[in-house]
Amino acid sequence: MTTAVIGAGIIGTTLAYALRKRGRDVVLIERDGPGKGASYGNMASIAVTEFMPASRPSIWKQIPGWMLDPEGPVRVRPAYMPKLTPWFLRFIAASRPSKLRELEAQGAALCQRVHEDLLPLLRETSLEGEISKEGCLSLYTDEAEFKADREHIEILERFGFPYEVIGRQAIKALAPELSTKIGLAVLFPQNQSMRNPYQLVVKLAERFTALGGQIEQGEVIAFERGEGMHAVLLKDGRRIAADEVVIAAGVYSAKLARMLGEPIPLETERGYHTQIMKPGISMKHSIIWPARAFMVTPTAGGIRVGGTVEMAGIDAAPDYRRSRVTVKRAREALPNLKCEDFTEWMGHRPAFPDTVPVMSASAKTKGLFYATGHGHLGLTYAATNARLMADLITGAKPPIDMKPYSVDRF
Ligand SMILES: Cc1cc2nc3c(=O)[nH]c(=O)nc-3n(C[C@H](O)[C@H](O)[C@H](O)COP(=O)(O)OP(=O)(O)OC[C@H]3O[C@@H](n4cnc5c(N)ncnc54)[C@H](O)[C@@H]3O)c2cc1C
Repeated sequence: MTTAVIGAGIIGTTLAYALRKRGRDVVLIERDGPGKGASYGNMASIAVTEFMPASRPSIWKQIPGWMLDPEGPVRVRPAYMPKLTPWFLRFIAASRPSKLRELEAQGAALCQRVHEDLLPLLRETSLEGEISKEGCLSLYTDEAEFKADREHIEILERFGFPYEVIGRQAIKALAPELSTKIGLAVLFPQNQSMRNPYQLVVKLAERFTALGGQIEQGEVIAFERGEGMHAVLLKDGRRIAADEVVIAAGVYSAKLARMLGEPIPLETERGYHTQIMKPGISMKHSIIWPARAFMVTPTAGGIRVGGTVEMAGIDAAPDYRRSRVTVKRAREALPNLKCEDFTEWMGHRPAFPDTVPVMSASAKTKGLFYATGHGHLGLTYAATNARLMADLITGAKPPIDMKPYSVDRF
């Protein structure tokens, strides 16, 4: 039995490795090189406390105001609005209170598994040194700002995620580089971070090939199928025979799903980072400041500042003014931050309007599977996605109900 996994981002590579370990002959097909898509430059956070649906009214009610603010945390390029409308209508539909409760539970069910799935994977691939276990600090200037984020904390409490509220003195002891403006913080001890998410994919790909997995560089442009899958066809003319095919091509999965007659409402939520190699400060914890909508993560050789969402489609040129805004905001929290020796980057978060990924067998074609749409949490969900999808594909019983993540739920 040969399984072709399309896309060597963190999702496809982790899954290819899991399937190889279960004895499948696996071909991982990648257009550009493992880890060069969204998985290259994400904020490196194992963000188990961030599964809340983006369609919460507290978020979308702010969208009109943000749209008028060029420095706002969400930006929709006006020219893209007509194309975005069907996705946005589904996003609004996902904001009904009863739907929100379901989506929260579906995100939490994945996040509750994350460490159980990730740590053994890092151990068996000798990649434990890639993770920092300090946790993440969520920042607030005062009690009023904290109260405004209360909904987030209440959802975490409901699902039993640990957190600790700390005051000025403890903040100073844990993170002396933070501004005295910060009066209150919440420590999320489970939100660990990777030293270099790109290197993680590269090293997992190496482990995969060491186990006998095959990586082919090429762009998939068509499929051969009957009742089941027969082969994938590459742009350079090659044909790769496969009885099973997994679409794990990040935001590009939408195009492949359309070719396969199973369209999915997948959009890119574009995000930016600035990797600063000489920040002039050193940090142990990652930080987020919900009211300012940015994140800072200590990474290999420096720190990474990022965040924001830009809805502008796959092809529009990056607008790096958005990264500069996040650095400006990060300086409010980190007054001694210097921005020297830095690079800027933009990537495509593959996002469904209901925030929940698709991890599913095709509803139409035998031997076809989808693993995509992990949105803001692709790195976080990768090991769990691999565990659950490997169960689905090999016919084992997954440890959670997979129906909510099905491809035909839209
Ligand atoms: C700014 C930013 C910050 C983020 N921060 C975090 C974070 O802190 N924590 C977290 O958990 N997540 C974070 N994310 C989200 C995370 O990066 C993504 O969810 C994740 O990388 C998606 O992985 P993927 O493998 O699905 O997609 P990708 O990494 O995009 O991989 C898809 C691959 O498929 C290949 N491909 C596409 N089409 C074809 C084809 N036809 N043939 C062959 N190959 C093809 C592409 O070349 C690409 O390599 C962030 C994202 C961004 C942009």
